[in-house]
Formats: sequence, structure tokens, C-alpha cells
Amino acid sequence: GSTIGVLGGGQLGRMLAIAGRNMGYRFVTLDPGADSPCGQVADKQIVAAFDDVAAARQLAELSDVITYEFENVNAEVAKLLQEESYVPQGSRLLYTTQHRLREKRAIEAAGAPVAPYAEIRDLEGLREAVSRFGTPCVLKTCMGGYDGKGQFVIRRGDEAELAEAFAALGGGSAELVLEQFIRFERELSVIAARSPRGETRAFPPAENVHVDNILHLSIVPARAGADVLKRAEELAVRIAESLDAVGLIAVEMFLTAEGELYVNELAPRPHNSGHYTMEACETSQFEQHLRAICNLPLGPVGLLTQVVMVNVLGQHVQPVLDWLREDDPSLPEGVVPKVHLYGKAEAKAQRKMGHINLLTADTEQALEWVRRSPIWRDRERG
Ligand code: ATP
Ligand code: MG
Ligand code: MG
Repeated sequence: GSTIGVLGGGQLGRMLAIAGRNMGYRFVTLDPGADSPCGQVADKQIVAAFDDVAAARQLAELSDVITYEFENVNAEVAKLLQEESYVPQGSRLLYTTQHRLREKRAIEAAGAPVAPYAEIRDLEGLREAVSRFGTPCVLKTCMGGYDGKGQFVIRRGDEAELAEAFAALGGGSAELVLEQFIRFERELSVIAARSPRGETRAFPPAENVHVDNILHLSIVPARAGADVLKRAEELAVRIAESLDAVGLIAVEMFLTAEGELYVNELAPRPHNSGHYTMEACETSQFEQHLRAICNLPLGPVGLLTQVVMVNVLGQHVQPVLDWLREDDPSLPEGVVPKVHLYGKAEAKAQRKMGHINLLTADTEQALEWVRRSPIWRDRERG
């Protein structure tokens, strides 16, 4: 079988490797951590910094196909890997999605709507854009943000707050974008897969609930009308095709009370909101990604059961482990919990440590249990 090189050793790489081993592939991972979640399950791990060119060359030598599990791949390393190995996803999609302005322009070029936005170069420009959009609005760094890091919600819009927001995000040295705040009713995401032969398929849309900007729940089927779900899938497919994507592309969207969809951001990789597919879909997002990058026929994407995915953060790990040891009479009959833990040693608060897929005949039943469970007591407002 072939060897797949994975740039990045996090949980996405780990679940990719677990899925891929069942398909007969071998895995090599490159990550600075000596005991990374992916390195633990890979056949070989290269422990080095992501910008270490010699290590990247070693990864290229060992791999028949290379993929990445995060967006911030160094441009020089990406180029080297493309020259010395096979990177079916290419580097263009990565380049586009690494930067919020490039990403928004690409989404618009695909004919998909985004929230009104403006490139912010200085405080004067921020002042002007805030007066145009009104408050609240969201200032974001163009590069490097995740889990709400690199964002500032401007609420009052007075001079002091603008200066604070601009300084907090490193304005002047970092590139910034201001977005109008969308008063969404729900957040949805659709993960589409596309293969080099041009086959494109989208998984059923997930409804996502965030707490403190970190994904808490994905609910599938999403609680929205059939027409909305169809439009969401079509948007994701259109974006994947327009961007000439290979592999997975996750499309995050806002749904307003009027039924409008706005694309928030993209991720050219497996996505947290797609973990529900592991047991609830005919094909998991990880298998689908491998099928796509290896130019195999894509797998079917039908939903086998309703499901609620709940994230296990650092503060939830001990309660989950305690809970696993006991029979839980509060778990509704018919809700089947599938627990995934990523092998991370340090259970820091807010760190993604695992997730649980609650397979159910009725998502409300599973949601009710999550709300009542002491494990997620800290999420109650979510
Ligand atoms: P991720 O971890 O998903 O990569 P991120 O740090 O890149 O997150 P975004 O997805 O842009 O950030 O924003 C995080 C969350 O903040 C969104 O899921 C949404 O709940 C809220 N948010 C972001 N932008 C807006 C907006 N323009 N209007 C309303 N809410 C927003
Ligand atoms: Mg993001
Ligand atoms: Mg996001």
C-alpha cells in the first residue's frame, strides 16, 4: 500500500490515520510534538518544526501522497513538498484560505454571499468602516485566527473601543478585516469532498452551537427547512468546484431568520463539525478525504441515524472518564454514545481533548441529556 504523509500531528491527522489504516495505507506525520495525537497512531513520526525544510524533505521522501491537517502551512515548505512529493490538494486553496480577505473574495467569485466586510489598514479606515456597518461588528486578523482568537467584537464603536480593538489585534503590523455582525438564527456547516477527477459530494449540513467561540455541539439533521439545507449543500458544492478544491473543504455559514445564508469561513481539511460522520454517515469525513486525495470514487454520504456531536474539552475529560466507568441511568434509552479521545496528555481548559457522537432516533432527546449532564455544566448558556 501507499504511504500518506500528514503535515500536522493533531487530532484531525490522528482520525485520518485511523481511518486510513483500515484502508491499507501507512502514515508518516510531521509535528513538533514528540507524542502528538497523530504521531501516536502513525507508522512513523518526524518530530520537527513545521518550517524545518530538512524535515519536510524527509516527509516528502517517505510519502507517496502528502496532505495537511491545518491551514498555516509555511509557503516555502508547501512548495518544497509539491516539488519533491505529490500534494494532490495543491497549494492554491491553502493560500486562499490562509487569509480572510483572499478567502472572502474567492467565496464571492463562486457566487456565494458573505457578510459585508472591509479591509482595514489603519485606525482612520476602521472608524470609517464601523460608521458604515454600524455596531456590533467584528474585527478579525486576516491570518492565524482560530477558536475566536484574533477577533474583537466592537459593540459601542466609540474612539476608545476602536483604538483598543485595533491595538489588541496588532493593527498596523497585522492585516485586519472588519465584518458586519450577522444576527444569525443558526450556524450551519457543510463539508464537501472533491476529487481530481472532478467528482464532488457534500455531507448533510450540521447545525453548530458555539460557546466562547469554540464548537460545543453539532446537530444533524440541522434544525432548518429542507430548502435551506438544500441551498447550503449547493453553496458548498459550488465553492468546492469554483475553488477547484481537492480533498475536503468545510464551509461555515450563518442562517438568518429570513432564511438567508452567508458564508463565514472555509477550512480545506477535515473539520470538527464533521466528526458526526464517523458513525452517523455511510462514509466518514476522514475516509472521504482519503478517497478524494487518492482519486478513488467518493463514498456515499447518506445519514444512517440522527446524531449530536458534543466536544470534550480539557475541563470535561475527568467527568467523561468518571462517567464511562458507571452505568448512567440518565442516558435516555436508545441514545448510543460513541466516545473518541485524542490521546492528549495535558487536559488544559478549553483544549479539544475528544468528542462524543450521540447516535439517536431524535436529536432533541440527546440534546436534553447533554443539557442535564453535569459533564457540560459549564456550557449551560450554550
Ligand atoms: P474556527 O475555530 O471556526 O476556525 P475562527 O476563530 O476562525 O473559528 P470564526 O469562525 O470567523 O472564527 O468566528 C467564530 C465564531 O464567532 C463564529 O462561529 C460565530 O459564532 C461568531 N462570528 C464570527 N463572525 C461573525 C459575524 N460576522 N457575525 C456574527 N457572528 C460572528
Ligand atoms: Mg477559522
Ligand atoms: Mg469558524
